[in-house]
Amino acid sequence: MSAADSAESDWVSRFADEVISEAQRRAPGKPIVCASGLSPSGPIHLGNLREVMTPHLVADEIRRRGLECVHLLSWDDYDRFRRVPAGVDPSWEEHIGKPLTAVPAPPGSSHPSWAEHFKAPMTAALAELGVEYRAISQTGQYTSGAYREQILLAMRERKRIDEVLARYRTKQVDAYFPYKPYCELCERDLTTVTAYDDDTTELAYTCVCGFGETVRLAEHDRGKLVWKVDWPMRWAYEGVVFEPSGVDHHSPGSAWVVGERIVGEVFGGEQPIGPMYAFVGITGMSKMSSSKGDVPIPADALEIMEAPVLRWLYARRKPSQSFKIAFDQEIQRLYDEWDALGRKVAGGDAQPAELAAYDRAVRTAEGPLPVTPRAVPYRTLASIVDITTGDTAQTLRILGDLDAITSLDDARPRLDRAQRWVDTQLAADQRTRVRESPDEELLGSLGQDDRDSLRLLLDGLDEHWSLDGLTTLVYGVPKVRAGLPADAKPTPEVKVAQREFFALLYRLLVGRDTGPRLPTLLLAVGADQVRKLAGG
Ligand SMILES: [Zn+2]
Repeated sequence: MSAADSAESDWVSRFADEVISEAQRRAPGKPIVCASGLSPSGPIHLGNLREVMTPHLVADEIRRRGLECVHLLSWDDYDRFRRVPAGVDPSWEEHIGKPLTAVPAPPGSSHPSWAEHFKAPMTAALAELGVEYRAISQTGQYTSGAYREQILLAMRERKRIDEVLARYRTKQVDAYFPYKPYCELCERDLTTVTAYDDDTTELAYTCVCGFGETVRLAEHDRGKLVWKVDWPMRWAYEGVVFEPSGVDHHSPGSAWVVGERIVGEVFGGEQPIGPMYAFVGITGMSKMSSSKGDVPIPADALEIMEAPVLRWLYARRKPSQSFKIAFDQEIQRLYDEWDALGRKVAGGDAQPAELAAYDRAVRTAEGPLPVTPRAVPYRTLASIVDITTGDTAQTLRILGDLDAITSLDDARPRLDRAQRWVDTQLAADQRTRVRESPDEELLGSLGQDDRDSLRLLLDGLDEHWSLDGLTTLVYGVPKVRAGLPADAKPTPEVKVAQREFFALLYRLLVGRDTGPRLPTLLLAVGADQVRKLAGG
């Protein structure tokens, strides 16, 4: 696909075009910079993955076009620890106000700090998703003095910054300083700058703990610019051309809005191209699976769906469109849609935008992501592992009958995702329990019609022992009983008879009125057990 073709077909290409031309104007010949920022202040919500996926997809498209592009991921780990989340020892209160990298990890963690503890699962998820980026620790940047000149500049220009911020303020501020020291004694940011001398860079502060000192800011590496100054400073420092952000950053007086003026008037830079992205919701996540806290994180989604499917959710929707990530039954429909698209792509029938989204889902500029060699429908796999309760020998037998699969690895990793989904998301009352012995009472109560239908089914089992064959058989039995050919279009009466026949089979096999799709269920139960339970 040429760039011109793709430019008309998907949002990623359109942003890439815009970013490339803007980068050529701003910094010709230099690597193009896209950026994301995440705060490891707690579990990183699955919804926040959009902060990374949006620039990732654009950066990846730029790389696919053979241009050098860096995706910076800023870890805002020098931000203050704001509050102790529920479930963590209340004694962590004493750390409120310290940088996230100076707070101990939650009890039981193997990580050296609060920030590292919450970065780790996100880092692993991004690796699995094929997201290529350069991580920047803001703790590392500030404490190494990387921003020294920018900090001194912001302090010199504090009046100008104050004027920008004052437009959105209701209260008068006596003396505004854009730099906040972390206290030398207690490490917290409960400090107040009391004096600053531009010539000597001497800065005096006091802390609520009673400590106070005067430092030379030109040598001081224990503090940071306030957020509304920090962000535009970094746009200029890093030369960011593309950085989307959430709705919450776009209100009047927000960092994005004031940042546009601050980056230009103070730091001599320009605001990036920065689309506002819409909210990503989560549906149906069960409490069972929230082992890592109350918040769904990207690792939770990757346990129940493959990386390309999760990538696809982001690639196919414009950043301005909100969508939901399903943990409930809806995931089966999502997978059906994904498989249908795969068939369209393989058959050459996909529309350009569909093809672009699919291609962005299954590979990056670095290469393809792992795929499941034999893509058995997710809903079928879920039914199988539900019925077999994960028994690998039984699962292999069924997959062999179903699709001539000879090794479970051919069905992985999708099989493992479906297994995890059944284990964590399917409620106990939705699980399927195949009967061990026949329901003699029910069998004894059946009339001649029902017995004849069951006979027709059981006699056809061997000949129809495949997913397609059993589908024909179970739908065909009521038709034949009504005197129609097995491939006839069902009449309304036949449809009623089919529903009743299916309900009977479910009651006989699993003791309920509903269950997994019947052909899958029959394959899973096995012909001998079906005969036994159906009175054959
Ligand atoms: Zn202090």
